[in-house]
Amino acid sequence: MAGIYGRLVVPGIERSTLYTFESLFGFVSRGKDGYPGRWKVERILNRLNVLIAGLENLRIDMWCNDAFLSPDAPPGTPPHDSPPTPGSAVWWDSRPLADDGQKWMKIADDVFCINPNTHAVNPVVAVTYSNPTSRIPLLMKICPDTLAEMVRTSIQTDMRHRPRLHIDGISLDSVRDGSLTTTLIHELTHSDFLLGDDVTEDIEGMESAYGWAEAVYIARVSENDALENADNFALFVLAMFLSLNHWGTGVSEKMFDAAPWDLSPP
Ligand SMILES: [Zn+2]
Repeated sequence: MAGIYGRLVVPGIERSTLYTFESLFGFVSRGKDGYPGRWKVERILNRLNVLIAGLENLRIDMWCNDAFLSPDAPPGTPPHDSPPTPGSAVWWDSRPLADDGQKWMKIADDVFCINPNTHAVNPVVAVTYSNPTSRIPLLMKICPDTLAEMVRTSIQTDMRHRPRLHIDGISLDSVRDGSLTTTLIHELTHSDFLLGDDVTEDIEGMESAYGWAEAVYIARVSENDALENADNFALFVLAMFLSLNHWGTGVSEKMFDAAPWDLSPP
């Protein structure tokens, strides 16, 4: 009897891919929540393909601070009519009209790099605003502390070249936290301009929506949430890029050996 794709032996990299996928999105062979495994795989691959295609000619307005937001509009601007909400305020987007600016924006205090009320540095990493009707449909902000942390981090992976083999025991989180590319992938999946209905959210797990432990927790609780959480996707893409290692537990291990197709997972 032949196994996967009619083969008797499955290469180690395919086992690694399967186990990493299952950690982040639930089992493929026995889907929970009514999702067939194949549908889940296709949904993730489709999201990746749509992102790649969308990036071809994409214009992004990228900021490293909140300086494009002003509490005051130019003289003569009609006041905004947004009702007040706790924890947010309406700010004037001072970017040029052609870049989708010159309008009021309601912004939550906690997505500012520095909280405008308390002046404390917010733990915010990056924020994406997406406006499909704009000439520049994506506005992305990566806060200065986040960028500085990426430069400071001890684990740097040059995403422009084939990545190196990591020694055993490096956490995927430690690569993720220092990776501007992974942050950008995470943020791009928040763009409904790029992804339409497949746009992702930040879905809270135990305490947050970010990192391996939260992603695995989210996948255990709800496969639907795992499919819609941005970091589950970003972590999977990162693990696949660092494919000289096996990342199925969230920590770098040696790649599996090729093995008979019916070998059960470790
Ligand atoms: Zn996010």
